[in-house]
Amino acid sequence: MDLDRHDFQLDELVERIKADDHRLVALQVPEGLKMQALEMMDAIETDTSAKVVLAADPCYGACDLVHDKMRMMGVELVAHMGHSQMNIDSGMPTQFIDVTYDGDPDLASVLPFLHAHRAMAEARREEGTPEDLTEEEAQARFLDAVGRSATLTDTKLGLVGSIQHLHLLPQFTERLEAAGFDVVVPMGGARLTFPGQVLGCNYSGDDDRIGHYLFLGSGDFHPIGLVLHTGKPLAMLDPYTGDATEMSLQRIERILRQRFGLIVASQEAERFGILIGEKPGQMRRTLALRMKRLLEQHGKRGYLLALEHVGPELIDFYPVDAFVNTACPRIAIDDAVKYAKPLITPYELEVALGEKEWNDGYQFDEIP
Ligand code: SF4
Repeated sequence: MDLDRHDFQLDELVERIKADDHRLVALQVPEGLKMQALEMMDAIETDTSAKVVLAADPCYGACDLVHDKMRMMGVELVAHMGHSQMNIDSGMPTQFIDVTYDGDPDLASVLPFLHAHRAMAEARREEGTPEDLTEEEAQARFLDAVGRSATLTDTKLGLVGSIQHLHLLPQFTERLEAAGFDVVVPMGGARLTFPGQVLGCNYSGDDDRIGHYLFLGSGDFHPIGLVLHTGKPLAMLDPYTGDATEMSLQRIERILRQRFGLIVASQEAERFGILIGEKPGQMRRTLALRMKRLLEQHGKRGYLLALEHVGPELIDFYPVDAFVNTACPRIAIDDAVKYAKPLITPYELEVALGEKEWNDGYQFDEIP
């Protein structure tokens, strides 16, 4: 990754610090950009009379706004970089700072994937609503990548991206339309700020007009979540490298097999640790309490464990048989192999207890 090609838009922050005469400001920077944090601190301290303290703990999203500890330190403003505001209030005045990357990858390399995926979506839609199929036959024919029997009303291309590439969406919409695709830039719910934005825990812009997706971004974190959530074919174009690829159905199947194995392993468990995230945008207290009640209804024990960070070294030693995670949903999905005991999502617990049916298709654990 070429860090010099990121644009950190500090002007608004500097103006706000000067206007409000702030003396102590906290800077919160995502992991991938921490190498440049000291440079940013220099820039802010040079342009204003404020001192800057870096909130140096890991930060993976706007769910993770620094709050009361910084207030105790005397911080008057938090500058949160590289994520957008979500539907939470950390209790601290916070300035969100956009970071954009100037990479502009060539569309040509991803077109073969998009053509193949549109054909898959068309085949699925053309199966239509057959009149002479039994319910089982219709379900088998409409199954998406995660086993749901959802139908499509259209085969539009959903164009999404990670936040530092969202400025590319208007020009990519034009290029894709010129290449013959009918493009939708989906707008999600309150946790998302921008059209086409996706988070690892929220893909709420999806609808039944969208038959397949193009993701502008790097890595497979968002693509895995998007396919687990939507069940739809997904192509990926990486603005950092120009590489094009797709999220393979085999990969999704492997994840689903692993999830099913963890559900089966949890069925015999009697004592569960229920993880509650302490980060403002991960705290799902009501859900955690509902899981505890559900376990009790099934004659099992649930212990509520509140944590800021979740890791194997922080929970594996508790004398429980399995864990249910209500903090960041991706901890259970992406990190499950790191834990010695089954770590499952709330939906997966409901399946393990027989309250929900796996046969209806996998349900991604979304934070709305
Ligand atoms: S995926 Fe996890 S880290 Fe990312 S925004 Fe959602 S809760 Fe936060």
